[in-house]
Amino acid sequence: LAEPNDNPLLDFSGLPRFAEIGPEHVAPAVARLLAQARGAMRAAEAAPPTWDDFVAPLEDANERLARAWGCVAHLHAVMDSPPLREAYNANLPKVTQYWTELGQNERLYANWRALRDSPQFAGLSAARRRVVENALRDFRLAGAELGPDAKRRFAAIQEELARLAAKFSENLLDATNAFALLIEDEARLAGIPEDARQAAREAAQKEGKPGWKFTLHMPSYLPVMQHAGDRALRYEMYRANATRASEFGPAEWDNSPLIARILRLRREAARLLGYASYAEVSLVPKMARTPAQVSEFLRDLARRARPFAERDAAELREFARTSLGIADLQAWDIAYASEKLREARYAFSDQEVKQYFPEPKVLEGLFRVAERVFGVCIRPAQAPVWNEDVRFYEIRDRAGALVGQFYTDLYARETKRGGAWMDEAIARRRRRDGAIQVPVAYLNCNFARPVGGRPALFSHEDVLTLFHEFGHCLHHLLTRAEELAVSGLAGVEWDAVELPSQFMENFGWEWEVLRAMTAHVDTGEPLPRALFDRMLAAKNFQAGLSMLRQVEYALFDMRLHAEYDPDTDSAGAGVQRLLDEVRREVALIRPPEWNRFQTSFAHIFAGGYAAGYYSYKWAEVLSADAFGVFEERGAFDAEAGARFRDEILAVGGTRPAAESFRAFRGRDPDLQALLRRSGMVAA
Ligand SMILES: [Zn+2]
Repeated sequence: LAEPNDNPLLDFSGLPRFAEIGPEHVAPAVARLLAQARGAMRAAEAAPPTWDDFVAPLEDANERLARAWGCVAHLHAVMDSPPLREAYNANLPKVTQYWTELGQNERLYANWRALRDSPQFAGLSAARRRVVENALRDFRLAGAELGPDAKRRFAAIQEELARLAAKFSENLLDATNAFALLIEDEARLAGIPEDARQAAREAAQKEGKPGWKFTLHMPSYLPVMQHAGDRALRYEMYRANATRASEFGPAEWDNSPLIARILRLRREAARLLGYASYAEVSLVPKMARTPAQVSEFLRDLARRARPFAERDAAELREFARTSLGIADLQAWDIAYASEKLREARYAFSDQEVKQYFPEPKVLEGLFRVAERVFGVCIRPAQAPVWNEDVRFYEIRDRAGALVGQFYTDLYARETKRGGAWMDEAIARRRRRDGAIQVPVAYLNCNFARPVGGRPALFSHEDVLTLFHEFGHCLHHLLTRAEELAVSGLAGVEWDAVELPSQFMENFGWEWEVLRAMTAHVDTGEPLPRALFDRMLAAKNFQAGLSMLRQVEYALFDMRLHAEYDPDTDSAGAGVQRLLDEVRREVALIRPPEWNRFQTSFAHIFAGGYAAGYYSYKWAEVLSADAFGVFEERGAFDAEAGARFRDEILAVGGTRPAAESFRAFRGRDPDLQALLRRSGMVAA
């Protein structure tokens, strides 16, 4: 076993030593860092309640643990191997256990309170005061202020809620897996693309059956709904999907009783904490202030999107009637008719677009945007890496000072988890020796790697993903915060975290930007304007309908957690009534009355989005409105860029997001920019 001195996970002097870190280093490093962190926790319990005696040593110990574990978790995500996975899984519970202890430690809570009530508090920097307030808030929301009985009840509720959430997901998965449709008549497959048929054929063969097997998993379900000309087939698939884990299936997988129980427990927990509803609790650490404000926000969006959604729906009905022979458009026709209409209007292939986005040109274009807008320089640099695909860059300011560093790991690999994400390696802070610690980020994607000696070609969707994740990176790297807990994305309200990422995506739709970041892989020609115009039109296709759909989900979620009374509705019928009510108010194409969307709404019943689904639209409004400044002044406006950097990126979590937004925009957020960018403006 590695001695502490040569365990690379215990070296915090610089960048992670990725070339040397092995699975055998994990357990000894975690053991040592946990022992140190627990020692620091004990010392902090008894320390005088000052920043230097109480907060700083605890933060130092916690940071070392978080940084080392961050390396392990990162490798687990991008370079998984059986021994590493084993080391990760063996140590994860120990690390999680420590954070739980820390969050429930009553003596620490008492010390945080003593610090806030001390004369020293007023003399702390605004950032440090915010760190203290956030810590107190999190303790309070975890039940730290409750009496002994209430505390026990609160803990029991949290435990049961965790179990119910897990059961909700399991039921949904079991119900999804239980359905299969075996088709033996090839004529019924008309319209379904070859790759989807092939997959269905193989699925049937695997079970020794003839024909094609379709399931409710998205890669099988979606191609049928979008392309199958056989209406009865679409109906059968739609009905199975829309009634998953409901009373129409086996009782053991029915999620409706779980929903009733979850809502009741959430409200009970909220009342123990002194709030009227779970929605109020959910909003405490968010930017939105009250459930009423969120509902009003959503209804405002719905009102303004409605005329455009009505136009979308009318066009779709007309097209279905005249071109597809469908006189009564139903829920199971929507995806199919929409796909046909989209093809008829904006025919272009992703393949055609890809030829204009070779990797080197795209990355250069992405970095030039950041350089011009935010006044920085981005250059390749050297660092130990975990795989030969990885590149490393540094960001310097105009005077040449190092501001931040980041790794890119862009290609899909068997050892990497799916999706695209940004992660933090090192956060900016002022260390106790007075020096500034330079922040470091990981930018991970799953794009197709280069083949045949040509550069990798990215789809426009890939390019938007790059802008998005790079926006998260810039938020982390361009911060000027000096306290860990509010540095970069840390401490930023949950419904405002996506502001910089979605903001950056907007550049990927600017003609001036795309012209400069495209070059046909064979001819070197930039993206043709006519093709760009078609891409833009396709982007906004059915924007009104899709806006209403998102508002429907979000308003249902918010009203369910703010208004619905679980105590007078033990059978849970009120949930359906509320959903029907929201649909009557918002939806233009009403689903059939047997649609049980709620029993598969895992975001709010098994994920972290309860009374938070609105965040998607909320952050989109912020980012579009912020970008509005660049629409007015040009995509590369350096003055606006400097202001965005100073007022949004640099401040991170050191002040409320609403204040940061006002400081940048000069007013509160406005919906107009999002509507405009979605093509929803009155002609
Ligand atoms: Zn994001």
